[in-house]
Amino acid sequence: LQSRLPAVGTTIFTRMSTLAAEHGAVNLGQGFPDFDCEAKLVDMVSEAMRAGHNQYPMMPGVPALREAIAQKIAALYGRAYDAASEITVTSGATEALTTAILCCVHPGDEVIVIEPAYDSYLPAIALAGGVPVTVSMEVGPQGYFVPWDKVSAAVGARTRLIIINSPHNPTGSILRRADIDALADIVRGSNVLILSDEVYEHMVYDGAPHESLCRHAELAARSFVVSSFGKTYHVTGWKVGYVAAPAALSAEFRKVHQYNVFTVNTPMQHGLANYMADPAPYLDLPAFYQRKRDLFRDGLRGSRFELLPADGTYFQCVRYEAISTATETAFAEWLTSDIKVAAIPVSAFYQQGKESGIVRFCFAKQDETLQLALERLARI
Ligand code: PMP
Ligand code: GLN
Repeated sequence: LQSRLPAVGTTIFTRMSTLAAEHGAVNLGQGFPDFDCEAKLVDMVSEAMRAGHNQYPMMPGVPALREAIAQKIAALYGRAYDAASEITVTSGATEALTTAILCCVHPGDEVIVIEPAYDSYLPAIALAGGVPVTVSMEVGPQGYFVPWDKVSAAVGARTRLIIINSPHNPTGSILRRADIDALADIVRGSNVLILSDEVYEHMVYDGAPHESLCRHAELAARSFVVSSFGKTYHVTGWKVGYVAAPAALSAEFRKVHQYNVFTVNTPMQHGLANYMADPAPYLDLPAFYQRKRDLFRDGLRGSRFELLPADGTYFQCVRYEAISTATETAFAEWLTSDIKVAAIPVSAFYQQGKESGIVRFCFAKQDETLQLALERLARI
């Protein structure tokens, strides 16, 4: 068989989690919490199962959940999406991202990908027959930022889609209002679409707002905005996400969605719809994770790691040049096997494996887990 994805191997997250398990390391690699969701959420899903919500739901998702999502977006970002025609529940954000790419990218179309980039974007573009055009983020005193002049220069007659991600995995940077305005200037007057990966929308720190594209009338009109309950409610294994997009884009999205997964499991959707009636869990999330971020950063301050800013997500990037000149993968493997703390090499988020001497830690962990990791990291 001639591979459709010849360059693709096992994801870095799976590889580092496997290595962490082999060495009994504290796993700060793959991004997932080591604590459970609220019992109330599990109860709500169980109740949905006992109430008989166990057969196929509607193709775009359970109406009550789509309605709850539309209400949340309206309350937080001031945009009214029609739950019937503009919100689709997906099998995690991953399916939303791949489906959005497959429904609009034709063979030969160019897609702008800002690197470092989450690892699912490039394979999805390849499956669509699209051509990725990469633009690298740059690092200044405020941390990673997007050089919009370079994005602008990369946009041409064949550009179909620009993928953005804020809060950003792996760098922990966030887009500010000026970034969004720069993006709007670039696409104005063109037919370029935008795929906005906002799975960390509720993890923005130090009082900064999340600049969802939903807030921006001009951009929302050409955007697929993607989020994930896995991140927000500490249930990464449930794989339920969603996409909000104008009706014309949602209609094309649903054509692919219905023949890929058709729909998403019913009881989780009912449970999530009930749970969403209370906004406290996502409104409390910035404070919850900011405390963990600060605990982790404070613990690393006396170490030989250099901390990069962490304005959003549950990731902390660090430079390790004072400790080692090894490649990021070799360093992350050594951290896992010898220091017994797993990390993710940022080079895995670049098409060409660019080396920056930076690895990513996930701080979505119990305080005791973070303390144990910090004791080990501070000794290097
Ligand atoms: N996008 C980004 C930036 C992510 O970090 C993740 C989670 N790993 C996803 C998408 C996928 O989310 P889900 O688990 O809901 O498919
Ligand atoms: N999004 C998670 C991370 O960046 C991992 C998701 C996965 O394992 N595919 O670590």
